[in-house]
Amino acid sequence: MLWDIDLTLVDARGFGPRWYRQALAAVTGRALENMPDTAGRTELAITTDVLENHGVPADETTIAAMFTALTSAVAETRDELAERGSARPGAAQVLKALSLEPGFEQTLVTGNLAEVAFHKLESFDLHHHVDFEIGGFGADSVHRHDLIADSVAKAADRRGAMISPDSVVVVGDTPHDVAGALSFGAIAVGVATGHSTETQLHAAGAHAVLPDLADTDAVLTALS
Ligand SMILES: [Mg+2]
Repeated sequence: MLWDIDLTLVDARGFGPRWYRQALAAVTGRALENMPDTAGRTELAITTDVLENHGVPADETTIAAMFTALTSAVAETRDELAERGSARPGAAQVLKALSLEPGFEQTLVTGNLAEVAFHKLESFDLHHHVDFEIGGFGADSVHRHDLIADSVAKAADRRGAMISPDSVVVVGDTPHDVAGALSFGAIAVGVATGHSTETQLHAAGAHAVLPDLADTDAVLTALS
């Protein structure tokens, strides 16, 4: 089970631009003038755009410095994030219920950096049943699709056995999450707690679409 974070498990709305403003200023001395689209995209893709949109070459060293600065910015605002952001209703209950299902592993496929993913989940006490070691994270590719393959390869390595794509479930709030799942051959579950409607998630090809995670039994039924 591969979970998206933003607007699926956690609402950190409003913090993203602030973290980027802080990181861009720290690394380049420039003021953030605009933010690219972030929904369903990876941190590598977003950071590259932010740098290029501000006239800074997106070379490996600068990107690495931005990632370090972003992680610090998130760590510094942890308390505020916990206070002003929120866990999606039912997220904690669903993660816990799935952790009790035999043979089920839960991890993340998210555009976030691994460290940022941890901060975001731990801020809302959602980190307990998620295996961060086998996640797919946003530092590794500009293509969200790649992160699913990354995560499944890590899980297969650890098990020492192949994992068939159709035993993988990807849960997310955007058509990007759905498209990533379908291109890998995984089961795509849409949750309409982001900017996309249930209709849009169905149209993207999701195998199942949930209005939210609030009803644990309904979610477990849909996922099984
Ligand atoms: Mg999301």
